Amino acid sequence: MRRPIPNPEMDQIDPFLLLDHLGPIEWGPREAIGAPDHPHRGFETVTYLLAGENEHKDSKGNHGRLRPGDVQWMTAGSGVVHSEMPSPKFFEKGGTMHGFQIWVNLPAKDKMMAPRYQDIPASDIPVAESEDGSVKVVVVAGESMGIDAIIDTVIPITYLDVTFKDGELKQDLASELNAMVYVFEGTLNIGGEKVEDGGFVILSDGDAVELSGTGRCLVLAGPAIDEPIARYGPFVMNTQEEIMQAISDYQKGRFIR
Ligand code: MN
Repeated sequence: MRRPIPNPEMDQIDPFLLLDHLGPIEWGPREAIGAPDHPHRGFETVTYLLAGENEHKDSKGNHGRLRPGDVQWMTAGSGVVHSEMPSPKFFEKGGTMHGFQIWVNLPAKDKMMAPRYQDIPASDIPVAESEDGSVKVVVVAGESMGIDAIIDTVIPITYLDVTFKDGELKQDLASELNAMVYVFEGTLNIGGEKVEDGGFVILSDGDAVELSGTGRCLVLAGPAIDEPIARYGPFVMNTQEEIMQAISDYQKGRFIR
């Protein structure tokens, strides 16, 4: 697993609290592990699967199966308990698991909103493609090449999965956004800088980024929330008191009602 956010230099890139690149990992039969029941409060968890099969269950009664290309955008808000496990079928057979999870922070005024769950199958996620086919953009959130995402985000987030075959893209990203690119295949030229597989770059101020080459990357962008952060494991609030409250509420079973 690679974890570009947080890292030893940065505990977040506002509003992104976490970026995990999971795999690709090969599991044998009955080997695959996942995350059994655990709580979240105060932010959103977003899972995007590229290979394998995952199963989600949560305390609000949501139940979903994630297959390659599917996205689950879960707004934990005031609190959920969920499990993120390999599906029973995948667990029995084994195979390749590959995907991403990001955590998007919520502004103080939305941290205690009612939990929300958006489970979007790959077939419903808009894809933008250049005329010559050299650039393909899966528009998970935001906009690219005039194609808008269908996922509803609390704050305006851009989340793109871009594949280049000797292609180039000028992606608009409003200058007030914090924007970053994570390369996970090949080598790309990002604003004049060569970035190899595994490279993570934070974009400097500007209203667009030029990307080219042969490879694949995630482009993430969002407005800084610019509020204090109190973080304890699966809870991300604004103050230490709110963290104590979250722990207490969880221990009293208040997340599951
Ligand atoms: Mn989780």
